[in-house]
Amino acid sequence: MDLQIAGRWAIVCAASKGLGKGCATALAREGVNLVINARNAESLETTAEELRGLDKRIKVIAVAGDIGDPQVRSALLAACPQVDILVNNNGGPPPGDFRDWSRDDWIKALDANMLTPIELIKTCVDRMAERGFGRVVNITSGAVKAPIEVLGLSNGARSGLTGFVAGLARQPRLVSRNVTINNLLPGPFDTDRLNQALNAEARASGEDLAQVTEQRLAGVPARRFGNADEFGAFCAFLCSQHAGFVTGQNLLMDGGSYPGTY
Ligand code: NAP
Repeated sequence: MDLQIAGRWAIVCAASKGLGKGCATALAREGVNLVINARNAESLETTAEELRGLDKRIKVIAVAGDIGDPQVRSALLAACPQVDILVNNNGGPPPGDFRDWSRDDWIKALDANMLTPIELIKTCVDRMAERGFGRVVNITSGAVKAPIEVLGLSNGARSGLTGFVAGLARQPRLVSRNVTINNLLPGPFDTDRLNQALNAEARASGEDLAQVTEQRLAGVPARRFGNADEFGAFCAFLCSQHAGFVTGQNLLMDGGSYPGTY
């Protein structure tokens, strides 16, 4: 299927690795020009070079820095001639026990996983509506639907974003002008983040990594972890010309892990 977005411009945040890179890759394959971001300039440039190799027609601009920093966000926006597509992504907050978290820990999590994407959305959506096309995809987490106990900061901050987006995405002044906003909720995906979490779990429990991995897979009916390419393909479809009637949705990709009917 031709997604009919060749030649458009996308900002993909936190995109040198993992799920963000998966989204940037799928968009590049569709001929979308990209402004990509991550903190480490070297690995970001390596990814940018890979993406340029996927389609000779596209431009790929790398803007290194912490996406939580307003100056970095301004640099991303300045580098993008027009934002047709915005993929919000960031590192996730650390695990822990809420008894140990200070107000500052909460502010950091809210800033990274709720307020940063909202700030970026604010800079883009009205101009998208004026032009009659816009797609925003927020990478959140399956934890929004089924909270993970040790990830309380993530459960809280991402639910805040989800609640805000639910209202914004339904504003007629946006949807009637072909601007959609959706959240993609990853379950367990085979990325550095998941591997770090499994390694930490193994160290803490004294079990070996294979055992811990086996236990995690037992909770996934697909009996495998997801991969960044399939995540990116779903994201690219949501960004496509064909997805203009889908907005305000929380779309789980978790190999059947979520046990509920709705
Ligand atoms: P990953 O493989 O560790 O990749 C994270 C990417 O984000 C890297 O490119 C990293 O590059 C960049 N990044 C991290 N912090 C950043 C910041 N402050 N500013 C700019 N870029 C930043 O992680 P992932 O698995 O793709 O996860 C992506 C998001 O999905 C996270 O929020 C994660 O919590 C969430 N999630 C993942 C899973 C999973 O199973 N993988 C499940 C549920 C939710 P630099 O380090 O160079 O900045």
